[in-house]
Amino acid sequence: MATGSINVSVENIFPLIKKFLYSDHEIFLRELISNATDATLKLKHLTNIGEAKVEYGDPKIEVKIDKDNNKLHIIDQGIGMTAEEVEKYINQVAFSGAEEFLEKYKDSAKDSGIIGHFGLGFYSAFMVADKVEIITKSYTDAPAAHWTCDGSPTYTIEAHDKAERGTEIILHIGEDDTEFLEESRISELLVKYNKFMPVSIKFGTKTETLPKPEGAKEEDPAPTQEVDNIINNPSPAWTKQPSDLKDEDYKGFYRELYPMQFEEPLFNIHLNVDYPFNLTGILYFPKLGQDMNIQKDRIQLYQNQVFVTDNVEGIVPEFLTMLRGVIDSPDIPLNVSRSYLQADGAVKKISSYITRKVADKLNSLFKNDREDFEKKWNDIKVVIEYGMLSEDKFFEKADKFALYPTVDDTFFTFEELQEKIKENQTDKDNKLVVLYASNKDEQHAYISAAKDKGYEVLLLDSPIVSHLIQKLETSKENITFARVDGDHIDNLIKKDEETISKLSDEEKDALKVDLEKVIPADKYTVQLEAMDSNASPFMITQPEFMRRMKEMQQTGGGGMNMFGNMPEMFNLIVNTNHELIGQIKDTKTDKKKERLIKQSLDLARLSQNLLKGEELTEFIKRSFEMIK
Ligand code: ADP
Repeated sequence: MATGSINVSVENIFPLIKKFLYSDHEIFLRELISNATDATLKLKHLTNIGEAKVEYGDPKIEVKIDKDNNKLHIIDQGIGMTAEEVEKYINQVAFSGAEEFLEKYKDSAKDSGIIGHFGLGFYSAFMVADKVEIITKSYTDAPAAHWTCDGSPTYTIEAHDKAERGTEIILHIGEDDTEFLEESRISELLVKYNKFMPVSIKFGTKTETLPKPEGAKEEDPAPTQEVDNIINNPSPAWTKQPSDLKDEDYKGFYRELYPMQFEEPLFNIHLNVDYPFNLTGILYFPKLGQDMNIQKDRIQLYQNQVFVTDNVEGIVPEFLTMLRGVIDSPDIPLNVSRSYLQADGAVKKISSYITRKVADKLNSLFKNDREDFEKKWNDIKVVIEYGMLSEDKFFEKADKFALYPTVDDTFFTFEELQEKIKENQTDKDNKLVVLYASNKDEQHAYISAAKDKGYEVLLLDSPIVSHLIQKLETSKENITFARVDGDHIDNLIKKDEETISKLSDEEKDALKVDLEKVIPADKYTVQLEAMDSNASPFMITQPEFMRRMKEMQQTGGGGMNMFGNMPEMFNLIVNTNHELIGQIKDTKTDKKKERLIKQSLDLARLSQNLLKGEELTEFIKRSFEMIK
């Protein structure tokens, strides 16, 4: 037996590791299985190039719990190590690497900005074990070696009679970490980190039902057999060529990723690039609907099929974190803070590559099957609109396929929309006026009034639409948006309604005085307009600008807080050409006049959903009185 002292200056490594990496103990298993995988793939390579004259076969990695003895075993059938190699790779490299690591991270490890995965390697075994053994047999003729270390800088190494090639790591699990002796915990970790690793991983056995032999009776039980319980899929879809995959394969992989998700994804984007960086992956568009608060953290980041994290913030542009799927890239630095990550050149390139791929895919879906794209629009618009707002590059590309649906479900691109409204919908400054509604039911009266005039009315109902409108107005020339019940719309109406007023200026002044006696000035600005006599006598509109600022504030960003605190103000448009207005003007008794005005105002409020509570009760009571 030989003994030696590990080349580290720190007295005892345990307290240090446990202190710095306390929250991340569980990654030891991922690290050890990664080593086992590397060892197996190295052997594969050596047999491929003819250097190792052994049968590669169908090697597995096995994870075994020995609860009675507080031990966890990780066994591979890979390249193995000779005693000299253990000396070289474990004693010198692994531990000096660990020392360097502790030196490097002693200040920053507690910083919450750290992703939390350090690629600690073999050394991480000591996070959960008081003692670690390695029993290893090289693929060469060299005898097996048995290395033992209890974490103090002394280890022992001796010969062992292990005959089959490969490495067995035995962890003597410490008192504080007995959770790692629980089958359910290990199973959870294997699924989390190793579900798609490239070498089969066995954890226990399971019972498999076999087909009944011919001639078996109905009541005979089907025969069963014990088979290895393989927990991973060594060749997940993203590692394959897009040309080798069918739609069904992509859907199948989605179910593998999200077994609890019953809804199918709308479409997928296969990422596959090896220059100037290496990246593979599959992103899925789930059905999103209106919901902006859907769970993020659904994209998983892998490095060479090893799960790293499901927080891809900083790697994938914010608007795409609403998608699902997998990204695998060895080129993303992991042991750095998020802010560093965002400034990293390679990561920036990756992020813009992903954005471009998503835009290209959407564009081709739009071009190849517009009808289908329109059907999906409502489920994907939140991502696209959010992307248009937050990434200028995406805005440029999305301009070709972003859709603007009308209240009657016709979908226009922006260009088509401009073409459609250029004759009929311009204001006095010759700006195009895009009319839109945000709610078909609530704004029904306004929508039909606009449609009667032959205007196109869009239905823009996503939660961030006021931001998008603001962006469109500033980035496009000569265009303005007006909600059907907003005051902007006046420009449009006034222009084509060159109706002659039925009232003289004096009559108007007198009427205004009467109206303002009844209508609360802190809520409504009374405006007399000569409109078509069929148009509504009283109409409430809201200042477009103010409403939009308030909305933008509610959905974050844009506008300043002052708007949120402003009281709601409305315009009351009184159509002086309507018969009812003439009647109000001619009413002799003040009391009756007041009643007519009040009732008209309440009707206008009712149509805008502004009449509520006690006022609504009053109104209904009064109306019943009037008709009885
Ligand atoms: P890394 O894997 O980053 O090189 P580790 O500390 O995990 O660092 O391992 C150090 C070295 O020990 C590896 O490079 C490898 O040569 C050897 N090693 C570790 N685990 C195994 C194993 N299961 N089989 C064969 N060699 C191993």
